[in-house]
Amino acid sequence: MPTRRAWKRSSNDRTPEQRYWRILCVCEIANFVSLRRHLGRARADSLILDVAARITALCPDIRLAPVGRALIELAFERDTPEAAAADVDRLRKAFHRRIDLDGEPYQLQMHFGVAAAPACEDDEVRLAEAAESALDQARHEGRVVMLDLSRADLAFDKLTLMRELPGAISNGEMFLQYQPKVHVRRQEITSAEALVRWQHPTRGLILPGDFISVAEEAGEISSLTLWTLRKVIDDQKRLAACGHDLRLFLNISGMLLADASFVAEASEIVRATDAKLGFEITETAVIRDPESAIRHLQAFADIGVQLAIDDYGAGLSSLAYLKQLPASELKIDKMFVLQLTSSNRDPLIVRSTIDLAHALDMEVTAEGVESPSALALLSVMGCDMVQGFLISRPIGFDAFRKFLDDDAHRTNAGGAPTSFIRPESFWKRA
Ligand code: C2E
Ligand code: CA
Ligand code: CA
Repeated sequence: MPTRRAWKRSSNDRTPEQRYWRILCVCEIANFVSLRRHLGRARADSLILDVAARITALCPDIRLAPVGRALIELAFERDTPEAAAADVDRLRKAFHRRIDLDGEPYQLQMHFGVAAAPACEDDEVRLAEAAESALDQARHEGRVVMLDLSRADLAFDKLTLMRELPGAISNGEMFLQYQPKVHVRRQEITSAEALVRWQHPTRGLILPGDFISVAEEAGEISSLTLWTLRKVIDDQKRLAACGHDLRLFLNISGMLLADASFVAEASEIVRATDAKLGFEITETAVIRDPESAIRHLQAFADIGVQLAIDDYGAGLSSLAYLKQLPASELKIDKMFVLQLTSSNRDPLIVRSTIDLAHALDMEVTAEGVESPSALALLSVMGCDMVQGFLISRPIGFDAFRKFLDDDAHRTNAGGAPTSFIRPESFWKRA
């Protein structure tokens, strides 16, 4: 099966210098659940192959990778984003025709989320996240959504972003994705992390790495974080109402821990709700102004906010402060976890961090868990929780709720304890 690494290939004998676009399209059978009711489970499980056959018949050069029972990824190259859009439109129209399944005609409803990037751009993760975000948008808007990353490329001049950010918050351009954390021994999704994204009207998806520091410099980080806090509370309640009362964590920039008015306002919002919340904070935030940071963190802990120390090991670590923080969780930075099974040093660092955290009565989360071998090693080392692409990428609220529903069904049906773990190829597709 072709994989995302296939992007590395220069197809159609094109040289990298030639300007062409790499396209990643994620398509979803929107009415899969109702089709499964008619077709039965076994037949529905292979439905995606019928979808693949129809796509190949129309565009034989498209490389296909089913990534679930109702989802398939299409990878191809075109000279312009417009040419790609035209092909996706042909595919969309092709699915207006009913499909013959074992002699019976069925109507498939399809969603298409597309990301296009110039060939010189080599960031597969960004392309994949953009395609997934386009699919999210396509589900909401009921149309094909295409994001052109080349426009985002031109975009990241800080001054423009700074000017646009306040409007973006009030215009509803920010949205959250959630990434589950799984408790290794309990084999349960126990919490999730909220990650903010900016769906820019012309530049497409902008990830936090490109705008959080801008928000900090522009003095907008407080209002962005208060918006996130309110949204997370709302989402936590909606999830609890459907039987998934799990704790949702959000990231709090270090500089906010020294901002008394942010702390006062955030505390007021938290006190007014019984939603289960957690804050992720980096250690370096505390080192900058330990006295007020520790006082403010204690204030949050006193009103029921659980605290996790984020990116442990990435910055300057200070064991002296670690002991004084009212944190119940330590998150090992993904840079140690990604190389866990290929480096000699990283397993030692991870192992001793786990022991240290346990000695301080903290649970340990490893982030960036991408492979079954890393999970196996972390489990042996006594790591409490894992988070990473192996379990799920960050996904929009509706997809996250569905993920939790599916997981609950499997558990209730007495599914295998490791049922949340998909084969490596499922999430990582590499
Ligand atoms: P973080 O808190 O360390 O978040 C985890 C990042 O790792 C996320 O990137 C996530 O998509 C990525 N990730 C998760 N699993 C894996 C994996 O298995 N492999 C790899 N390679 N990466 C993985 P993202 O969403 O781009 O966020 C980047 C950073 O932006 C976050 O790092 C966090 O520091 C910051 N951020 C995100 N949302 C907020 C927010 O609401 N407020 C503040 N202040 N910062 C935020
Ligand atoms: Ca985090
Ligand atoms: Ca982190």
